[in-house]
Amino acid sequence: MEAYSGIIEAVKSADVIVCGGGCAGVAAAIACSRNGAKTILIEKSSVVGGTATNGLVGPFMTCFDPKGEKQIIKGIFDEMIVRMEEKGGAIHPSKTGQVSSYGCYIKLRHNNLTPFHPEALKMVMMEMLLEAGVEIHLGITILDVKKEGDAIQSVVAFDGSRLVEFAGKIFIDCTGDAFVSLKAGVTCDMEDPQEGLQPMTLFFWIYNADDQKIEAYLDQDEENKYLPYHKLIEEAREKGNFPINRNKIGLYHMVNEGEWRLNTTRIQGLSPVDEDDMSHAYVEGLKQVEFLMEFFKTLPGLENARIAQSGAVVGIRESRRIEGIYTLTEQDLIENTKFDDVIALCSYPVDLHPAKGTLTGTSYKKEKTNVADVYEIPYRILVPKNVSNLLTAGRCVSATHEALGAIRIMPSVFAMAQAAGTAAALCVKNGTRPEQVDVKRLQDLLREQNQCLD
Ligand SMILES: Cc1cc2nc3c(=O)[nH]c(=O)nc-3n(C[C@H](O)[C@H](O)[C@H](O)COP(=O)(O)OP(=O)(O)OC[C@H]3O[C@@H](n4cnc5c(N)ncnc54)[C@H](O)[C@@H]3O)c2cc1C
Repeated sequence: MEAYSGIIEAVKSADVIVCGGGCAGVAAAIACSRNGAKTILIEKSSVVGGTATNGLVGPFMTCFDPKGEKQIIKGIFDEMIVRMEEKGGAIHPSKTGQVSSYGCYIKLRHNNLTPFHPEALKMVMMEMLLEAGVEIHLGITILDVKKEGDAIQSVVAFDGSRLVEFAGKIFIDCTGDAFVSLKAGVTCDMEDPQEGLQPMTLFFWIYNADDQKIEAYLDQDEENKYLPYHKLIEEAREKGNFPINRNKIGLYHMVNEGEWRLNTTRIQGLSPVDEDDMSHAYVEGLKQVEFLMEFFKTLPGLENARIAQSGAVVGIRESRRIEGIYTLTEQDLIENTKFDDVIALCSYPVDLHPAKGTLTGTSYKKEKTNVADVYEIPYRILVPKNVSNLLTAGRCVSATHEALGAIRIMPSVFAMAQAAGTAAALCVKNGTRPEQVDVKRLQDLLREQNQCLD
């Protein structure tokens, strides 16, 4: 931090500084501001939404119990969907049912998904941030933190031409990579990209697919709808004509006819927190997109599909995870551990894409998928050890690699972030530290904000 002393050209302040504007940062900032704290949101790209907008990742995974009877994640997440649906940019998960084209016909907990248009999400996120009164700073990258004792005083950020210091009482790390936590001295863990870290994926999106032809072709195998496509991939691989290390294509129908998202490129063995690796990752991702567009010409229903867009950033499934005052484990999800400080529910299984090999997601470790139908997420995984005025939300929270493989989906990210933002506002109001938050009061507020905890 000393390196920047004397050259900081502007100082801004608020009660709460939310660092990073992906799904987590946006929900945390809205919740915080709505609960009465002056809130600043800092995002390094020029767009909010992170992985969900710049990365084109979607649909929103399930926010219902596995039977599709009860919606278990609502709050700000549901508000966004309702607003997007009003603009024609989403289909509410209560309408998408169990096994569907919106969920790539996957049976395991891919019920009640939410297809959405990334442009609609951008607009709705911005609308809700502004309505809540959040002060938004885009195109500015956090470089470092300034601490006194065990508390963060400010973060220093660079906007391309000058350094700006953002001072606050409470900070929320929503950078995905736990960057602020790391700089503040929180212990962080990350799997080895060669051995265990989940691979990255550059999403893309196509139009002009023939939906009816796709359906008819896949209907050949009632039990395992995607098998016909997967067989073609395996045949091509055997002939040396499918260079991507993945045995299945992830094809997710979007809101409009003929439009599908592709979760199919695979970038293994590179570190998401290393600039050199990330540059290689993008180059590799784009090469794979180009290859796939050619390959699709051989798949029934996709012969005339055209590319609409590829992600502006490569999607990072996981990177650093903080050490919090509690660490959520896979066992907690299996046993549905009851937490006094529950702040969100989730039903998604442990979904780990392997660091090596061609297998996909949940399929490669069948025994890992027996989590409870619905399980609880506790507040303490948002609270890092050793720094007194910091909270986290999103994919950098305190969870084991396996547990994060389940709770990393966007609905639970929104829910955790709503809790973090509300907790930060409570801290400001009561002059307390995140570790001392009146959890009962936090839970009451979340319920009042239409979140499900029971
Ligand atoms: C390939 C892939 C497929 C997935 N599939 C699905 C799916 O189908 N459905 C689903 O629900 N979930 C899915 N997920 C999971 C989900 O998309 C992510 O876990 C979630 O979006 C993470 O949100 P986040 O806000 O924590 O992080 P991010 O979206 O990564 O946001 C972090 C934000 O912080 C900003 N930032 C970082 N560092 C700084 C800095 N120093 N200064 C300022 N800003 C900074 C970034 O620019 C970014 O906008 C998938 C993820 C991936 C990668």
